[in-house]
Amino acid sequence: MSKNILAAVAWPYSNSQIHVGNITGAYLPADIFSRYQRLAGNRVIMVSGSDAHGTPVTVRADAEGTTSLQVYYKYHNSFLELFEKLGLCYDLFTSTHTQNHFKVSQSIFLALQHNGYLYVEQQKQWYAPSQERFLPDRYVEGTCYICGYTNARGDQCDRCGSLLDATQLIDPRSKIDGSTPEIRETEHFFLDLGKLQPAIVDFLRQRESYWRPNVMRQSLGQILADALHGRAITRDLDWGIPVPVEGWQGKCLYVWFEAVIGYLSAAIEWAQLEGQPGDWENWWTNPEAKAYYFIGKDNIPFHAVIWPGELAGAGEEFAGIFAGLEGKPLVLPYDVPANEFMNMEGQKISGSRNWAVWGLDFLSRYDPDALRYYLTINMPESKDTDWDWEDFVRRNNDELVATWGNLANRVLAFAYRNWEGRVPEPGDLRPEDLAIIATVEAGFGSVGEHLEGVRLRAALGEALRLAAEANRYLDKAAPWFEIKSDREAASKTIYTALRVIDSLKVLFAPFIPFSSEKLHFYLGYTQPLFGEQYIDTVVDDLGEHRVLRYRAGSASGHWEPSRLPTGQIMQPPGPLFKKLEPTVAAEERARMG
Ligand SMILES: [Zn+2]
Repeated sequence: MSKNILAAVAWPYSNSQIHVGNITGAYLPADIFSRYQRLAGNRVIMVSGSDAHGTPVTVRADAEGTTSLQVYYKYHNSFLELFEKLGLCYDLFTSTHTQNHFKVSQSIFLALQHNGYLYVEQQKQWYAPSQERFLPDRYVEGTCYICGYTNARGDQCDRCGSLLDATQLIDPRSKIDGSTPEIRETEHFFLDLGKLQPAIVDFLRQRESYWRPNVMRQSLGQILADALHGRAITRDLDWGIPVPVEGWQGKCLYVWFEAVIGYLSAAIEWAQLEGQPGDWENWWTNPEAKAYYFIGKDNIPFHAVIWPGELAGAGEEFAGIFAGLEGKPLVLPYDVPANEFMNMEGQKISGSRNWAVWGLDFLSRYDPDALRYYLTINMPESKDTDWDWEDFVRRNNDELVATWGNLANRVLAFAYRNWEGRVPEPGDLRPEDLAIIATVEAGFGSVGEHLEGVRLRAALGEALRLAAEANRYLDKAAPWFEIKSDREAASKTIYTALRVIDSLKVLFAPFIPFSSEKLHFYLGYTQPLFGEQYIDTVVDDLGEHRVLRYRAGSASGHWEPSRLPTGQIMQPPGPLFKKLEPTVAAEERARMG
């Protein structure tokens, strides 16, 4: 039976470019998982978008002397370009700056308020009389009250690393005009996490047996050590979603409160774009649907604690407000397989110091599958990993090119040359032929099981192991000698090897789809394994936003063993991957830092 699977992917802040650490942390795992689930015949929607609001964007706009809207557009468009080139098949990659998202976020807010999970409290905050406005924490600088550093930011000190209480800064000044702010009282809405704690703890306990230990530690573990308390969910800021309450003009929803709501609003927007406006319910109010959240470890509390709290608290009331779906609670996360961090040549990735490999820049010199391969085999699933240029070149050459690419190329080229471009007729297969076919076909179970459990590294490692087995079979049978004395034996070997690479192509397809599609066509198939990405423009009252979409179209791939027909006409084969020169490591290092 086909399952409904929601792949909810972290929303990149639209204030900087995306680097390989971001890609391996959240975006690539979601695509691998979704491609596998599509091949397995399930109904998947993979959704995300640009996080357009909040002070990270306004600060960048001020620094660049432009508007928040322009900053958001610039980075949003670069994300679309990167994700398209990298083959990340979002059913919808949209943005939080849409009329739909405003409406859904405000509806969740009102549902929480109606259900008694919001309260109002006074807070102290810096106010700039010169500008007649409250200053968000990032807009205040001063002396750190812990280490004495004179250029500490309101939210964090860059020297001692401490998270700061902005109101305690010594000698505060406004980042905008240098004026001296004063403390004033301001009112904010708070999410009553204390009241939601029993529901959140229940939710986490039900998932304790299968979640990654680090995710459990940072959610249930933290709550048991230190009970939840209310959290402000509004801000004195004009770039964002207005608080939908009379008398609250000039304040907006805190970016963290509303960005997570994007998982829901994007599904609703997707259904509208598909022309099936009620279809989102199959993922969001269907108790059988499974929702997976692909995020980095820095976002665990927001996805494993606060977002489930928002969903549970909004509950049926939300459905009532938004679509008249009384009696149907919203689907809580099934799994939050958060990744750890990837470092860069032994140091933390730092965008400001250019100590990073940027996605678009990398793809201007290398193929997407080379990146996808390295970021998967080196994925920080259970501990931090390290990007190392020599390791990248070695794995590309020894594993991708030598183990998998050469196997496929040797078989394709030999078959094409000696059987007039057709899949040979083998007659009865020998025990050793049947044995390697069975070994590789068992991969649909073993690789699939790892993929189901979001153990992507192990899944790719298993596919690679099977390719190595197939190499051993081919070396032992040596069809290039067989053909000289016994053409029939050689045709059994080559037919077997073609069947095997045809199956391996599917096992590798979620990870390195571009090369699998190539191989698929070399083997003579005419319909692609996967559908296609495309970019669309959506217009609403807030303006227009470009979105990345995916349509299944004539996709024909299935997570099942090859049934390669004998006699099928093949295409002239070419290489699947490029070997890299050893000098690459030194050249690339020179670009960084
Ligand atoms: Zn400090």
